Amino acid sequence: MTDPVDTHSPGLLSWVESANAPQTPFPIQNLPYGRFRRDASEPWSVGVAIGEQVLDVHGAGLCDSPEMVRWLTLPRAQRQAQRQAISRALQHGSEERARIEPWLMPMDAVELGLPCEIRNYSDFFIGIHHAANTGRLYRPDTPLLPNYRWVPIGYHGRASSIQVSGRDFARPKGQVKPPGAGAPAMQPSEQLDFELEMGIVMGQGNAHGDAIPIDAAQEHIAGLTLLNDWSARDLQRWESQPLGPFLAKSFATTLSPWIVTLEALAPFRRPLIRPPGDPQPLPYLDSPADRASGAIDVTLEVWLQTAGMRARGTVGDCIVRTGFAQAAYWTMAQLVAHHTVNGCNLMPGDLLGTGTLSGEGPGQAACLLEITEGGKRPLRLSNGEERLFLHDGDTVTLRGSCERPGRRRIGFGDCTAAIRHARP
Ligand code: MN
Repeated sequence: MTDPVDTHSPGLLSWVESANAPQTPFPIQNLPYGRFRRDASEPWSVGVAIGEQVLDVHGAGLCDSPEMVRWLTLPRAQRQAQRQAISRALQHGSEERARIEPWLMPMDAVELGLPCEIRNYSDFFIGIHHAANTGRLYRPDTPLLPNYRWVPIGYHGRASSIQVSGRDFARPKGQVKPPGAGAPAMQPSEQLDFELEMGIVMGQGNAHGDAIPIDAAQEHIAGLTLLNDWSARDLQRWESQPLGPFLAKSFATTLSPWIVTLEALAPFRRPLIRPPGDPQPLPYLDSPADRASGAIDVTLEVWLQTAGMRARGTVGDCIVRTGFAQAAYWTMAQLVAHHTVNGCNLMPGDLLGTGTLSGEGPGQAACLLEITEGGKRPLRLSNGEERLFLHDGDTVTLRGSCERPGRRRIGFGDCTAAIRHARP
């Protein structure tokens, strides 16, 4: 047995030099999991990001299967042991370097897929400022519905149209009925929006009929990704009463390619803050451990690059800056406990979206519906362009990172896609 290494130690360096660059999202303290292939004829294989490289962890003998689902179903202690082994192998001075090095590939020379096969997708609504801001547009007197502080609100989303970062998609068409019109029309959405969210990727599932208690939830969560829940607001307004979102959201969802593991996120945990006067959660949604460290500090950004900006070679504007912990009313563990309390079985690779993670302050609204107050106040961009909703040719990129004094910064990798013209 080798001594366990502190995989978070800020002094750890890797013999993969690009992992030691101060701005890399993937230093040796991160080690996120994803799936790669060298060309489309190959099956997907498990990889770990290190600097600008991808490590084929199965080829390198650091895991026993190239299938991501195998890693997802490992007990948490085994996932931690695998992280230790990978960290040790990649550390500066490792004797394993000669054996490991042939299994590294430049990230830009491989195709990155969805981090796992996603069989089921549920989307929550845990951003309380988002809930209040959007609720206010329709119900100025009661922006938050009475159930909000008691039950984590969610709906069942569509898994088949979840795309990995980098896949552009066509503006959706659907039924739209403008206020005052006598009948709806079928047309391309004129109110296409993004939603900045995080995605919780499930590891081990639960048997049908068994609930996952809140304090066991960490055993069942593999890690986090960035998620863009693209939304057609005009379709949504007309179709969503009384059963909620359907075609307004099912046309595309974009996910970042890397699962940043709960192990990597451990140094960035923080207490869950529940405002004084709010009801305490029901017992199945409450535990001292979850109150003490159920939240995670992640700084989140949305970047918008218009076609005009791209033509002039500019990277775009940062139009949203917010934080997971400040935005979220419920923790990951509460979502897992709630989702399974009725006996619903979650499966490895199931995806839980958090909902739009808007903060309270200026610049922290995390979708255009909020930023433009329902399409009334244009967002002015640095090059003079304006947006109420997204135009064809716009590229939206979500970014996330964790920073804390005395810790190495880790990042999520981009979650990006561009809007193409609607199909004829
Ligand atoms: Mn959403």
